[in-house]
Amino acid sequence: METSEKYETVFLDRDGVINKHLKNDYVKCWDEFEFLPGVLDALSILAKYFKHIFIVTNQRGVCKGLMTEDTLKDIHSKMQTEIENCGGRIDQIYYCTDLSNESQNRKPNSGMAFQAKNDFPNIEFQNSIMIGDSLSDMEFGNRLGMKTVFINKENESESLINFALSLIK
Ligand SMILES: [Mg+2]
Repeated sequence: METSEKYETVFLDRDGVINKHLKNDYVKCWDEFEFLPGVLDALSILAKYFKHIFIVTNQRGVCKGLMTEDTLKDIHSKMQTEIENCGGRIDQIYYCTDLSNESQNRKPNSGMAFQAKNDFPNIEFQNSIMIGDSLSDMEFGNRLGMKTVFINKENESESLINFALSLIK
């Protein structure tokens, strides 16, 4: 994939892409957060190839009262420390705690992408890749004209590390 020439920005879903997705549950504290195999190596590769690396994540567990927003921020802070210790980086994390599917910020709606555009005005969605493990993530990317990459935990060839390795081939 000649991704490095064309694409400058990558948007990553969190649960199921960075960390293990808990079935019918939320990651409610750092102890429940588990990086998926190869992800820390993958992020250190992505850090060399992309100008901007963002996470866009729906976290409705906050508005369901299952964790506080401060706890979510604590999880993200510890996650970022580990990523940086392994040579990777996340430039910004956007999260949506809203319950309603009508929320403009809740994927597949585009709000979090426009928050990123507001913070980093030089990003272009057509030069961006959205990587996720759900159809909602693919829809989010498609609506914005991004390239989309699907992560599937059942299939090693559809993992973040496999995508990262495809960049350095
Ligand atoms: Mg996910």
